[in-house]
Amino acid sequence: MENRYKSYGHSRPSRFSPRRSYGRNTRKSSGISTNQYIAKAIETETSNIYVTDALFNDFNLDPILQKNVLSKRYTIPTKIQNEAIPAILAGKDILGIASTGSGKTAAFLLPMINKFINDGTQTCLIVVPTRELGSQIQDEFRELAKGTNLKSVLIIGGKSIRDQMYILDKRPHFIIATPGRLKDIFDRRGVNLGEVNNVILDEVDRMLDMGFIDDIRYIIDKLDPNRQSLFFSATMSFKAEAIANSLLKNPVKVEIESQSPQHNVDQDVIRVDGSKRKEEVLLDLLSKEEFKRVLIFTRTKRNADKLSDYLYDQKLNVDALHGDKRQSQRTRIIDGFKRGDFNVLIATDVASRGLDVSNITHVINYDEPECYEDYIHRIGRTGRAGKKGFALTFIDR
Ligand code: AMP
Repeated sequence: MENRYKSYGHSRPSRFSPRRSYGRNTRKSSGISTNQYIAKAIETETSNIYVTDALFNDFNLDPILQKNVLSKRYTIPTKIQNEAIPAILAGKDILGIASTGSGKTAAFLLPMINKFINDGTQTCLIVVPTRELGSQIQDEFRELAKGTNLKSVLIIGGKSIRDQMYILDKRPHFIIATPGRLKDIFDRRGVNLGEVNNVILDEVDRMLDMGFIDDIRYIIDKLDPNRQSLFFSATMSFKAEAIANSLLKNPVKVEIESQSPQHNVDQDVIRVDGSKRKEEVLLDLLSKEEFKRVLIFTRTKRNADKLSDYLYDQKLNVDALHGDKRQSQRTRIIDGFKRGDFNVLIATDVASRGLDVSNITHVINYDEPECYEDYIHRIGRTGRAGKKGFALTFIDR
């Protein structure tokens, strides 16, 4: 399949003196063939993640929730919401195969909040792979639980453990946590996991990739055995299945195929053959009208910073997100990108996990991903909630 952006390789040589080219020295074989980076978005009914003949009113949620859903402008439930909400309301365990972008956060939060409105003695633990995903879930929780007296706490690394233990002491209803920090607090007797009678494991495959398997097992083991358990993962590996088996009782399986990013995302490659510097090719792209909100991936923190400096020097509105930045800086950067304070964000893979910014028009893989799974994760940041997105991958091999 030919592509629109390929012609850069034949452009005239740069009139600038040769400088270092960002990204090349980190090139490593990804084992991904070029063909895997090319696909057309499928604009058929299957790419629609909504269930058009259903309404949120059909779920009989508490009036406060109906109002909050309305103020978030959710009118039509997504497929996962349509299938999971009634099952969770009926008290069932859920095995959900779905990734971010499918509307899964509201799919588990709405019925859980509904349950807690009716019984405030419950405790719910939500375990997530990253700080960013945790804080996004907490943001959504605050909006959806507005007007109820339900409280939450975010238990993540990089923030004061004492503050978190202080809030836990007041027994919030919802504990949103990354596994490592939660285990730390449990070991200091700062949380009673035996009281947790509702648990949600979100993005299990990511947690396993990040090496959290032992922490997850450790945590599950301590929970109230008479609990309601929800499990969400984008893919089901052997390990993920083992976790699901130890967690769930007679689960309802909800599998959302069509949210796969490939369906919504036009994917293409940009070949750079040395006749024009990579960063200049990128600059040309970013000057195009349609590149409104762009997320650029580099493999290393150093490349992210260098590229950010280069684009900043070229007067672009840009910032960089990576693991060397403090948590408060990362939150500020993500919020700024969401608000549109700047329209180009450069990120490393780890920093972008769970990043949920709507209307990202383009994802650019400036450095190729390490593996195909990372690729799928990266391009899933665009084309969200049924919108079409674009993903471009620089190839210089
Ligand atoms: P999630 O898969 O939970 O990360 O959600 C992806 C995005 O879809 C988020 O920006 C949500 O705010 C949005 N969203 C979730 N449910 C709906 C809905 N029913 N209608 C419109 N947008 C939604």
